[in-house]
Amino acid sequence: MGRITGPVCRLCRRDGLKLFLKGSRCDTSKCAFERRPTPPGMVQKRRSKPTEYGLHLREKQKVKHYYGVLERQFRTYFARAARGKGNTGESLMSLLERRLDNIVHRIGFAPSRAAARQMVLHGHITINGRRLDVPSYLVKAGDLLRVKNRAKSLQLVHASLASNRRDIPDFLTRSETGVPEGRVDRLPASDDVSIPVQTNLIIELCSK
Ligand code: SF4
Repeated sequence: MGRITGPVCRLCRRDGLKLFLKGSRCDTSKCAFERRPTPPGMVQKRRSKPTEYGLHLREKQKVKHYYGVLERQFRTYFARAARGKGNTGESLMSLLERRLDNIVHRIGFAPSRAAARQMVLHGHITINGRRLDVPSYLVKAGDLLRVKNRAKSLQLVHASLASNRRDIPDFLTRSETGVPEGRVDRLPASDDVSIPVQTNLIIELCSK
């Protein structure tokens, strides 16, 4: 079988878990992490034990790769979470989960977060009846997502729904009768995050 790993698959190997960055391929036997979950390289080298700082940094990088956010955006989310009254780690993950590109992906309208971001940027999604092309928009409880009623938008979403094998998280509902739409029933909680994250490591790192 030919070479199937792209740069994003290397991130999964480096972070040591499936980050689901390649859409429907991630759910198939073609997933590079399923085939070889070790870092890239012809010979598997012995890795030195990561430092304390390295462990903290890896956890933060993992979350950034998963949600596709840059350092500056991540720091903004962290600052906002730290300002709030609740648990900083839970607030941070809730903010990231609320991003519109994440919601479009998790509700099944796009096969990956990267594809969802493109879909939002190209105006294929409306929120509460209004076109919104801002992937970082933070959804609110009660928001109604709708796919634009035009051929290209419907084609993209139907293709994603046909290949989607993942469950929709509890805080979202989806209707596929007529034009596909979805609703944010409540704000996401830490239980709704689909990757294991040690938020305490991130908080320690970002609080320094
Ligand atoms: Fe590549 Fe997706 Fe598998 Fe990660 S989960 S290794 S991005 S195919």
